[in-house]
Amino acid sequence: MEIYDLCIIGGGPTGYAAAMRALDFNKKVILIEKDRLGGAQVFDGVMASKTLWEYSERIRNVREITRNNDVAENLTYDEVSEEVNNAIFERKTQLTYHLRLLQEQLPYGMLTYEKGSGYIIDKNTVRISGDGIKEIKTKFILICTGSSPRILPNVLVDETNIMTSDGIHHMEEFPKSLVILGAGIIGCEYATMFSNFGKTKVYLIDKAERILPFEDEDVTGIVTKNLEKNGVTIHKEATLIRMEKTTDGMVEYEIACKGKENQIFKVDKALISIGRVANSHNIGLENVNIKVNDAKQILDDDTQTSVPNIYTAGDVSGRISLVNVGEREARHAVVLMFGEERPRRIRYNNISTIMFLNPEVAAVGMNEQEARAKKIRYKLAKVDYGTIARAIAMRKTDGFFKILVSDDDEMKILGMRAVGEHASSAIQAVALLISMNKGIDELTQLMHPHPSIIEGIQECVRMLKGKSIYKPSVFRDRLQCYTCHDGICTPLYPQ
Ligand SMILES: Cc1cc2nc3c(=O)[nH]c(=O)nc-3n(C[C@H](O)[C@H](O)[C@H](O)COP(=O)(O)OP(=O)(O)OC[C@H]3O[C@@H](n4cnc5c(N)ncnc54)[C@H](O)[C@@H]3O)c2cc1C
Repeated sequence: MEIYDLCIIGGGPTGYAAAMRALDFNKKVILIEKDRLGGAQVFDGVMASKTLWEYSERIRNVREITRNNDVAENLTYDEVSEEVNNAIFERKTQLTYHLRLLQEQLPYGMLTYEKGSGYIIDKNTVRISGDGIKEIKTKFILICTGSSPRILPNVLVDETNIMTSDGIHHMEEFPKSLVILGAGIIGCEYATMFSNFGKTKVYLIDKAERILPFEDEDVTGIVTKNLEKNGVTIHKEATLIRMEKTTDGMVEYEIACKGKENQIFKVDKALISIGRVANSHNIGLENVNIKVNDAKQILDDDTQTSVPNIYTAGDVSGRISLVNVGEREARHAVVLMFGEERPRRIRYNNISTIMFLNPEVAAVGMNEQEARAKKIRYKLAKVDYGTIARAIAMRKTDGFFKILVSDDDEMKILGMRAVGEHASSAIQAVALLISMNKGIDELTQLMHPHPSIIEGIQECVRMLKGKSIYKPSVFRDRLQCYTCHDGICTPLYPQ
């Protein structure tokens, strides 16, 4: 029987990152993937949706500049799909070749890629069912089986008319109308993309009062305004009563909105975007007595499960479903297994995310509602894009930077939100400072290029220090600087 140091079940970005890190320790690794190497990073997930977003943004820009809503009149979904598939192909090929060439470079058997389904027999044995069935022995196991779209028991998903994110990229033409159930990040991203093309009437159903309810109201306010400007109808505080395919090949749905009579709509297609469920079934967890929570996510402590030689990382453990988080956890788990010294526990307080909306939203650390919920006293500086030279030059002044720091002399950065063009390019410096537990002084010292969007962060920081170039007492609607405690905010400087 083959014997390995590490057996990784699941070849998404998490499993792939783990395999590469284990090689750094000169360990013998087997990576098992039952479907497609790259997981949701490559297929029906990040690459597909982000290529579609980029493409749709270009169209939106042209629509705005030319003031012509029909610029994409002759654009077919086939043409867009071709671009999406090219991006997927490029990434898939890169991952595959990298793995194959590494296998050739390394001593024989150091890195094995096995196509098949992994199943834990006992804490040191994994069965692989692919072309044939075989069992391997391993010192450590890492479970990276990822997640799948959540569906509703009373809605029949056929991935043609009623789809999840697994089906949406396989449509043959732009739908004339599309309803999206769920106004979380993925739902709002698809609403942005399809409305950007100007070829689809988009409806967005959410049970909450506002979209992206986990974000502060000023963030969602801009995104909501732009979605509605782009023709999206948002059904707020709405409950889906039923959704079904009709005999004429369309989709009918009925919603109950708070304080209104039930409404019925008929659309071409529907996208169910109500979160993801962990792929923790059929992998033999019961054979080793590994526990899952009510949401079927694997329970762990800093990536280690209750079985000391079995670890878990990425979407299957359900903390934060992001590629950067999965990769980080995977690499961390490998260091815990093979490193000479125990690394410090993973911190989740400086994770940066980008939301591909209109405009893009970048986030790191806490927002105001989290700080308030935790009863943390904070200072806040907010700079409107309208005061940033680069944004003015771009003619894209919709947006802001908002930085939260501790309400003490150190002013440690608690979090930041950037909403607007190039927002994501500005977040990393702040993420670094949060991870280093540093205050804002470092940021005031940096000499940013001019004109650049990141200058907005510097102006936030200067404002907190009382030495901004533009004074909040003059540009009251564009610059704000407060200290906030128990939901009561008091201006830091004369208003
Ligand atoms: C539409 C969409 C957009 C997204 N956009 C972003 C984004 O912009 N940025 C971002 O950071 N994240 C984004 N995500 C989330 C990101 O895709 C996931 O967080 C990431 O792919 C998780 O990686 P993973 O390896 O843990 O799981 P997955 O990518 O789900 O991979 C798990 C792999 O395990 C395999 N597997 C499962 N069971 C077994 C088994 N028994 N044996 C062998 N193999 C098995 C599966 O086939 C799969 O390939 C997006 C997701 C979606 C759906």
